[in-house]
Amino acid sequence: MKKHNFYAGPSILSDYTIRNTVAAVANFADTGLSIMEVSHRSKEFLAVSSEARELVKELLNVPDGYEVIFLGGGASLQFCMVPFNLLNKKAAYLDSGTWAANAIKEAKFFGEVDIVASSKEANYTYIPKNYTVTDDVDYFHFTSNNTIFGTQLRQDPDVKARLASDMSSDIFSRPLDVSKYDVIYAGAQKNLGPSGVALIIVRKDALGHVDRPIPTMLDYNTHIRKESMFNTPPVLPVFAALQTLKWYKKEGGVAKIAKRNEEKATLLYDEIDRNKLFRGTAIPEDRSLMNVCFVMTDEYKDLEEDFNKFASAAGMVGIKGHRSVGGFRASIYNAMPKSSVEALVEVMKEFEKQH
Ligand SMILES: *Cc1c(COP(=O)(O)O)cnc(C)c1O
Repeated sequence: MKKHNFYAGPSILSDYTIRNTVAAVANFADTGLSIMEVSHRSKEFLAVSSEARELVKELLNVPDGYEVIFLGGGASLQFCMVPFNLLNKKAAYLDSGTWAANAIKEAKFFGEVDIVASSKEANYTYIPKNYTVTDDVDYFHFTSNNTIFGTQLRQDPDVKARLASDMSSDIFSRPLDVSKYDVIYAGAQKNLGPSGVALIIVRKDALGHVDRPIPTMLDYNTHIRKESMFNTPPVLPVFAALQTLKWYKKEGGVAKIAKRNEEKATLLYDEIDRNKLFRGTAIPEDRSLMNVCFVMTDEYKDLEEDFNKFASAAGMVGIKGHRSVGGFRASIYNAMPKSSVEALVEVMKEFEKQH
């Protein structure tokens, strides 16, 4: 039976990504060797790495003055690398979810952290608004899409400070004005590739303003100078990420993908709002187009486990909500076809008919 993959991460990848990666595991670029057994300094892999960085620039219209880096350590290492490289005295952070809170915890090792607003008291069901970022901060950090709670900030915040953003779960899901940002980072395993690599886009002149020494591996400039080849990069994940980037381009680019994402999310939210068994957990204006979180309405609470089984039997995988929210979460990342969202909507309708 066809599986509909709603996992939050690692998560669905395009068939194109899977097919080309499978082929390269057997025979990479006609080398007669697997992608897993070639030197990262071979000319074939150097071409992969540089094409991937170029495609990131092309797809997101990255202006001059920025560098693209691929690094191991996931998004979580960036929680520490961002302040290591940019926080001299004080930074401002928006506390909009678990990942934001984790980033705040790391930043505190490096200086003063001004938490400008938090929605923690409401279990992060909304994005805090009407906060002030003072002019004396080194940067303002926010999470663009809160993967666990299903909220998303789709406009670039209007602040004067340098901007740093964790875009792990919505990068490439919509066009972006990169020129407003100083650092953008994303773990690959939601919208780019398998786990094991993170993408970082950094404005070069944002670096070099901190007084502390930075260990070599944690210094963005190390990786910029060595073109993401300071040490052995995650070769296979970078290869797979390149396939996804090529697929984005083939599909017509980020604007096209954004349109499809809107359609998919609308389908699902409309059904959640219509169906008497379900209700969304995030406030409507902040709903994420990537992670759709919902629970059974109070009257039908006892049916949660039954719906889980019913959906699994219909081929739905990974819709169980994060333990801190409960209920359900359907992650409908870029690679998720509309047909899978339609299949989930059908399952929800069918289940409602039976109750
Ligand atoms: C998944 C996720 C992370 C954690 O990523 P790792 O690569 O596991 O460190 C951080 N931030 C957001 C928004 C995420 O969705």
